[in-house]
Amino acid sequence: MTRRRIGLFGGTFDPLHLGHLVVGEVVRDALGLDAMRFVVANDPWQKSPTRSITPADRRVEMVAAALEGIDGLEVCTAEIELGGPSRTITTIDFLSEREPDVDWLVVIGSDAAAGLDTWHDAARLRERAEFVVVDRPGDQPAPPPGWRWQQVDVPGIEISSTLIRERVASGATVRFLVPDPVMHLLDRWALYRPTR
Ligand code: ATP
Ligand code: MG
Repeated sequence: MTRRRIGLFGGTFDPLHLGHLVVGEVVRDALGLDAMRFVVANDPWQKSPTRSITPADRRVEMVAAALEGIDGLEVCTAEIELGGPSRTITTIDFLSEREPDVDWLVVIGSDAAAGLDTWHDAARLRERAEFVVVDRPGDQPAPPPGWRWQQVDVPGIEISSTLIRERVASGATVRFLVPDPVMHLLDRWALYRPTR
């Protein structure tokens, strides 16, 4: 049986933006992956104490709407099904049980690379998964020693979800920075607008 190779691109996706889409597409293509899964974090435990996070079901809906009909890019709700704080090692264990014929490649932006040792059960994760690091403007891709990783060059897109939230909050346009389906949902739910 030939093993499938599937990318796991985890994030809060609050909201998904064009930088995320470019990473997913370019890495999938560059490594010839069978698919790229956008893994929506349930409770991003390293972030949730510092700001309020949009409910997971809405973040999933935004990612699903943006990826609909796009070949090879898929939304993955494993971490929502698992519940609780999201931990990559737990997610991989969970997915491997369902799909034992898959080798998982964990895709991260260079801003996340330096912190890999702080991830849950880092020692086992290091054994279990291969990492793909993509350059993010301003950060050097340098995981700590001991991790198996490769770099994939991706056209630099200087967009972050923080930028999107800040622009919406100040009334500035985010058209062309997020996919159209995400724009519509942001409008419909009045997300990130200042509360008065
Ligand atoms: P926030 O500003 O809220 O932290 P974000 O834009 O960093 O949001 P996340 O959901 O935190 O988005 O990121 C998910 C993954 O996508 C991370 O590995 C992150 O490094 C990567 N990523 C996000 N934006 C880009 C980008 N513009 N280019 C390359 N990688 C990116
Ligand atoms: Mg981030």
